[in-house]
Amino acid sequence: MNIGLPNILTVDVEEWFHILEVEGGYTREDWAGLESRVEANTDVLLDLFAAAGVRGTFFVVGWVARQHPQVVRKIAAAGHEVASHSYWHEVVARHTPASLAEDLGASRKLLEDQAGRAVRGFRAPGGSITPDTAWAFDVIAEAGFTYDASVNPGHSSHGGFPTPYFGPHRIRCGSGTLYEIPWTTVGLAGRRVPFAGGGYLRLFPYPLIRNCVGSENRHGRPATVYVHPREIDPEQPRMDLPWQRRFKYYVGLRSTARKLSALLRDHPFVPVETWLERHGPDVSDRVFEVQ
Ligand SMILES: [Zn+2]
Repeated sequence: MNIGLPNILTVDVEEWFHILEVEGGYTREDWAGLESRVEANTDVLLDLFAAAGVRGTFFVVGWVARQHPQVVRKIAAAGHEVASHSYWHEVVARHTPASLAEDLGASRKLLEDQAGRAVRGFRAPGGSITPDTAWAFDVIAEAGFTYDASVNPGHSSHGGFPTPYFGPHRIRCGSGTLYEIPWTTVGLAGRRVPFAGGGYLRLFPYPLIRNCVGSENRHGRPATVYVHPREIDPEQPRMDLPWQRRFKYYVGLRSTARKLSALLRDHPFVPVETWLERHGPDVSDRVFEVQ
């Protein structure tokens, strides 16, 4: 059996201003006064997925869900999985175990109330669980989540976690066991780069992305695609960011919807929960002990 298929489709539902840890970004005190574009952009993604006949997992920021409960209701009504992208969209290193537990509890309860069903998954903002903040796995397991989707086996501005498995596996921590759905990465110039989401998905030409997905599948791993509502919105307001972040944040906004449609046409995709139902038992012996 090829457990590399189907692939996994995920969305991180946040606003255009939910950028992490950067000069020129906004703080949470600013958020309520800024233009909201998340509902319109999420509608575009929902239409795109409906046209492709594909369902996915939507990791929703709690603050967004509080401001726009209809967004979560629309996601759930279309048959997609609702999961948590934290309440305040803060990198894990800014939390203590107690404050992360409070944040996760608040986001999970709100999303369950709005979606009308259990919320099983969590993804940390920026994939920001590192060896220094590995205690987060205990907090996630204790908060009642079944799986985490935060581990970036490569390196990024906010995360990077050395793991022996590049595909879905189990994490055993002090307070239990979680499924882990890591970021999909490809080896490039001696580094592991997450080609299936964010700036790389917007930057790389489509044939390269399609080939990388196929390569993952041949290695027996699903590609986990992740996209943000703002990434298909060329009209979003521009923040005054340092040039490297500005490039990474805004490159390719006009081509991403087209690439995403092509990906969904050329490869099979399902939500995390569906992948786990089909293949969770197949990875039960791939266990990463995190202390
Ligand atoms: Zn995020």
